[in-house]
Amino acid sequence: MIKNPIPWPNGARCACAITFDVDADSLIHISKQKDGFDRLYPISMGRYGPTVAIPRILETYRRLGLKQTFFVPGWCIEQYPDAMEAILNGGHEIGHHGYLHEDPTEHGAAEQEHWFERALDAHRRVTGRQPTGYRAPVYNVNQSVIDLLTKHEFTYDSSLMADDIPYVLDTPGGELIEVPVHWGTDDWPPFAHYDEIGYLMPVRSPSSGLGAFWEEFDAHYEARGLWMSIWHPFLTGRLARWRLVEKWLEGVLERDDVWFAPLCEIAAHVQKVHAAKALPVRVERLPYYDGPVRPAPPA
Ligand SMILES: [Zn+2]
Repeated sequence: MIKNPIPWPNGARCACAITFDVDADSLIHISKQKDGFDRLYPISMGRYGPTVAIPRILETYRRLGLKQTFFVPGWCIEQYPDAMEAILNGGHEIGHHGYLHEDPTEHGAAEQEHWFERALDAHRRVTGRQPTGYRAPVYNVNQSVIDLLTKHEFTYDSSLMADDIPYVLDTPGGELIEVPVHWGTDDWPPFAHYDEIGYLMPVRSPSSGLGAFWEEFDAHYEARGLWMSIWHPFLTGRLARWRLVEKWLEGVLERDDVWFAPLCEIAAHVQKVHAAKALPVRVERLPYYDGPVRPAPPA
């Protein structure tokens, strides 16, 4: 059970969101900064996302009437404007996902701010929009990112794991809605095989890899929660996997009591429930700690 389920719009039993992180080939350029530009195999593996998988995914969404969220690094927005145009034409949301997929914990606050704002600039220039949602590359949010989100008036983050359902982050710069992620609904563990960035996982079959996600959905449906997948077009948008996703979607949509929405709509709904104070939405206060929890040893 979930102690404080959020009442979803129109009496829906369960909220659902497929989110795609469109990392494309940013991963090889950030991990192999010297020669990533000349490693053609991982570049091609990443390019499959915006060029082959995105049109396939968007066609499914169009046919089924779904509007969903794509988190895209700023560099990928600049590099793949046609894919961005197709996403926006379908009525979907594009969220902030760093500039070149840099890990926030590997940069100081000033450098982090530089890349964060360069990504914002890419959003504004190419899509003509200011994003309201953020997901940290590799989920590695730290306090300087949280401060940037409140400074730039974001509504929500989707990188943290403190609950099953959305909750409120009470931060020094103001409140944010957290739409929580989890490795159990991320396609990296079952499907990524990427030696260059240190992943050598056995690739699962489409049915066993995706089966774990459907079990997660069943639990959320029963508990009136939020099922959200964190997928990558170059992994779950591949032919055999997406074929199974399509079939699953067709079955789930027949139930008529699940609410599929982009995260900006889910976050706005939670914000409204929280503001009305009729039902308590859980609040987590940040920062969790002011400094290292183990004091320095005596000199
Ligand atoms: Zn990513």
